[in-house]
Amino acid sequence: MNLQIAVILIFFLALPSSGWALQITLPEVAYQGDLIVGKVEPSTPVFVDGKKHPVSDQGYFVIGVPQFQKTDFSVSAIKDEENVTKILRVLAYPWKIQRIDGLPERYVDPPPEALEQIGKDNQRVLEIRQERPHVVPFFLKGNFVSPVKGTITGDFGNQRILNGRPRNPHSGIDIAAPKGTPVYSPADGIVRLTAENMYLMGNILMIDHGLGVQSIFIHLDSVCVKEGESVEKGKMVARVGKTGRATGPHLHWGVSVGSTMVDPARLLNKAKPVL
Ligand SMILES: [Zn+2]
Repeated sequence: MNLQIAVILIFFLALPSSGWALQITLPEVAYQGDLIVGKVEPSTPVFVDGKKHPVSDQGYFVIGVPQFQKTDFSVSAIKDEENVTKILRVLAYPWKIQRIDGLPERYVDPPPEALEQIGKDNQRVLEIRQERPHVVPFFLKGNFVSPVKGTITGDFGNQRILNGRPRNPHSGIDIAAPKGTPVYSPADGIVRLTAENMYLMGNILMIDHGLGVQSIFIHLDSVCVKEGESVEKGKMVARVGKTGRATGPHLHWGVSVGSTMVDPARLLNKAKPVL
């Protein structure tokens, strides 16, 4: 054996048993409101800003970029005394202002007796968002489809001025459609919550798409699936309505990653997940 071959052999023998050095597949930049999919080798722990992050059996993980995120993310993979860190740069997004007039006053400044119910409604939704049951990640079977045919009348993240007064930014997108229009599941998932008569949201439905990614549909006329039921992408799950705080029939669709809301419209525009 000549020296050159011996050196090459030693080089390969010195590599970790998994083959090549640790890698994180991740885009370099993200906008505020993006949903980012990353990948590592299966069973490699991932840390985002130093905190352990959920990873699927196949090594996928999802990061939701909050609307007002000002700092970059530091993403690390650590395994067998090796570690690698990548920076996900966060870019500002040009959020718009949306004025909505003509809302009944009780929805813009809810009366004190309604605040308790609103608090309970929000808490119920938040608890579901923070649970991460084992669901196969949606993106392994392609991307989201629009849950309803219609025109987008309200963008995600709009700074809202309701009856002339500033309120929280819009946490999803609004798609205008007549009452009774079918709503389809935008991706595979498991129905996590169906609830009626929430003060602002009306009748609602939440679907878990895996790895902490969930859809919420609000202002529904009716829901036609049950909690715990598995739904495939394209299955009819509800009908459009105008329950809760709504000026007319439309679907409000929100997407969350854990408790972070992201822009659903951008999920529809991607031909493929970023991998
Ligand atoms: Zn809305």
